[in-house]
Amino acid sequence: MAGNQPYQAGRHFLQIPGPTNVPDRILRAMDGPTIDHRGPAFESLALRVLDGIKGVFQTKAPVVIYPASGTGAWEAALVNTLAPGDRVLMVETGQFATLWKALADRLGLEVVFLQGDWRHGVNAQEIAAALDEDKDKTIKAVCCVHNETSTGVTSDIAAVRRAMDDAGHPALLMVDTISSLASIDYRHDEWGVDVTIGGSQKGLMLPPGLSFNAVGEKALAAHEAGGMTRSYWDWSAMLGANKGGAFPYTPATNLLYGLDEAIRMLNEEGLQNVFQRHARLAEATRRAVAAWGLETVAQVDSERSNSLTAVLLPDGHDADAFRAVVLQRFNMSLGNGLGRLAGKAFRIGHLGDFNELMLAGTLCGVEMGLAAANVPHNRGGVQAALDFLSET
Ligand SMILES: *Cc1c(COP(=O)(O)O)cnc(C)c1O
Repeated sequence: MAGNQPYQAGRHFLQIPGPTNVPDRILRAMDGPTIDHRGPAFESLALRVLDGIKGVFQTKAPVVIYPASGTGAWEAALVNTLAPGDRVLMVETGQFATLWKALADRLGLEVVFLQGDWRHGVNAQEIAAALDEDKDKTIKAVCCVHNETSTGVTSDIAAVRRAMDDAGHPALLMVDTISSLASIDYRHDEWGVDVTIGGSQKGLMLPPGLSFNAVGEKALAAHEAGGMTRSYWDWSAMLGANKGGAFPYTPATNLLYGLDEAIRMLNEEGLQNVFQRHARLAEATRRAVAAWGLETVAQVDSERSNSLTAVLLPDGHDADAFRAVVLQRFNMSLGNGLGRLAGKAFRIGHLGDFNELMLAGTLCGVEMGLAAANVPHNRGGVQAALDFLSET
């Protein structure tokens, strides 16, 4: 496949927390002619995916689909609703929260950044305290990452909503679900989220290239009343064209074929079953990590992510050297440590189109890799995971 590497037999294990393994059904669905995006065949495809994607966000609100990576959808959420100089409350859960904050800084927003230790989720009480202090209601939005992909920590978004309601604060709630959508239960409507940001290349099992804004009524009103200078990301242009099954500019047609198939697959399995499967495979992974005697980055049990597990290596051992051994020896890609966790942690992606035997192979690769890279650990992690899977 890649460049001047000699062929490695068998399937590559892409166990990074996104992009994830793209199932054959989706690859085949995308392998079709790119059609006239202003013709009748496209119209029915567009109307079907625009409707079907709502179920994945557990919303009745419109969902805007951009031909962009997740970063584009981050920007879209902010420029459609906020004005330069607006104050926004963001929470430092890890690298992705930090990148979103940097993007907000560059757009001229005034970010109140609640510091975090990169091992815990969003603390709703801290949000409540910050909102209580904001007597003049100058904070226009609260922005959280639901599943922080750099640390493997999932935050309680319903608790954030309650904190905002208890404070009687009118700020918008915006949530990044790029690595939780279609893998961890997420409810746009029930949790009263105003803008939800998603991406194609993680739980949705698609290649990178699509991203999403689920747009609640309050967010739409903020968009109509103001926001920043915007063009490509403008919701009105999108939502207007979408009503007739069109896009204001050339859509990523073949990725939409893939999205259509992904939605079909999620509905066949049932979204609740998809969440259950992720929870089970995640628990098996955590049993393996515990048996190896290694530590997860996430420190609180209830916050441990069901889509990935970030694992700390013992002091003095380089996580990137370990990952290189795993890639070279076992043809498996593990996620690297990001930001302040660079070299200190590796990440096991267990999301998307993934099952028990794929997990078993993944954990075997990690356990053999720990031995091959001379990382101190206990044997028996794989066994602990298999025991859990066969008992439950
Ligand atoms: C992957 C990811 C992103 C970044 O998305 P890109 O597609 O790389 O732009 C943002 N937030 C979270 C939580 C992610 O996991």
